Amino acid sequence: MTAVRHVDVLVVGAGPAGLAAAARLAAAGAGRVEVLEREPEPGGVPRHSAHGGFGTLTRPLTGPRYARLLTEAAERAGATLRTGVTALDWARGGPVVTTVGPGGPETVRARAVVLATGARERPRAARLVPGTRPAGVCTTGELQRAVHLFGQHIGTRAVVVGAEDVSYAAAGTLRAAGTEVVALVTEDPRAHTGRARAQAARLYHGIPLLTSATVTELLGHGRLSGVRVRHRDGRTAVLPCDTVVFTGDFVPDHELARRGGLVLDPGTRGPAADGAWHTSRPGVFAAGDLLHAVEPARTAALEGARAARAVLDHLAGAPWPDPGVPVLVSAPLRWITPNRVTPGARPDHHLLRTGTPPPRPVLYVHQDGRLLHRTRPVPRVALPHRTLTLTARWHDRVDPGGGPVRVSTG
Ligand SMILES: Cc1cc2nc3c(=O)[nH]c(=O)nc-3n(C[C@H](O)[C@H](O)[C@H](O)COP(=O)(O)OP(=O)(O)OC[C@H]3O[C@@H](n4cnc5c(N)ncnc54)[C@H](O)[C@@H]3O)c2cc1C
Repeated sequence: MTAVRHVDVLVVGAGPAGLAAAARLAAAGAGRVEVLEREPEPGGVPRHSAHGGFGTLTRPLTGPRYARLLTEAAERAGATLRTGVTALDWARGGPVVTTVGPGGPETVRARAVVLATGARERPRAARLVPGTRPAGVCTTGELQRAVHLFGQHIGTRAVVVGAEDVSYAAAGTLRAAGTEVVALVTEDPRAHTGRARAQAARLYHGIPLLTSATVTELLGHGRLSGVRVRHRDGRTAVLPCDTVVFTGDFVPDHELARRGGLVLDPGTRGPAADGAWHTSRPGVFAAGDLLHAVEPARTAALEGARAARAVLDHLAGAPWPDPGVPVLVSAPLRWITPNRVTPGARPDHHLLRTGTPPPRPVLYVHQDGRLLHRTRPVPRVALPHRTLTLTARWHDRVDPGGGPVRVSTG
């Protein structure tokens, strides 16, 4: 049995959400604020996203620079960052986490825990892509790590599966590594339209974009030799390549949350949380992509900073809220966050995603058949891979003893 160490706030994950939470908490005098990061350096995904697109519109930054600024802010405020340390599980009694790091196993008891473990892309196996199991198959995260952190050689010809922002980031990384990008392949028939098309044309002119197409088989023994692609009309073709990158299709990194028995939301598959980032487990908060894979880094950082406010209230003795009223979505909407309504924890707004463009650009909020709110989403054109926002002004009309709130498009 390892000795138990005590801290005031334990933050798990040193990405934008965790670092922003730690900076705010340490600056506000929350006591000993400790951040655990399993990687050798803090920074989360931006650390290995060498492209620009982080920071703000007026002050765009590369991922590594953004990660450095957040890290410095947390350290300057007085938070302790412990890298190479993985939070493994929970021990009995309050928020107590077991960890392992360079110094061996440890048990840390905290007055509050902020889970900020981010999200991961579903790998080939989880996407049930048939075929052989050759080398040369990766996700964007694995690709960026290999190229930007370890300078590894990737391959000579690559196919990118997906056609959203992260897919174009993967194509950029491949090109930077000297790999020819043979094609972007997506099942989405609309990837030729709107922002994605403009972006592809501007940044990756010359890379064929195959829409309404599915990668049905990986070929090759030892090393990948090609991917079989089926078009909507049933035609198939083999694209010769030695690398395939599966992009997008993110899921929250929720293993620790599951092990802690936190209630997960059926839409996001992250912990259910209210507008002050309380989870179902007293003393445990959640923020960032763990709650909604994947939003821009500044959203994650903002949530971390806002969660810090609620953590301070908790440390000052505020009672933990009851589970509250669940907020669910109907198809084609896929998820909404925050997804619990509790008294006194109204967020500025909710974030939503849709699976396909809804027939009518109107959002309805109902509880037990009662219309609470009706509005147009922002932005008005609701597309998959684009964040929608919904005001939270209807919260005070929710019956705390009623059934779930449902958000739908009709
Ligand atoms: C390829 C790619 C490109 C992107 N490009 C942009 C862009 O251009 N602009 C933009 O604004 N956003 C971009 N994003 C999104 C942005 O990176 C994320 O929104 C942001 O990183 C989320 O922050 P986070 O803190 O929630 O999670 P993360 O950044 O994922 O950080 C989570 C951290 O938790 C650690 N961790 C997880 N489990 C444990 C554990 N058990 N113990 C200890 N540590 C743990 C992880 O190692 C990780 O460092 C991109 C994302 C991807 C994947």
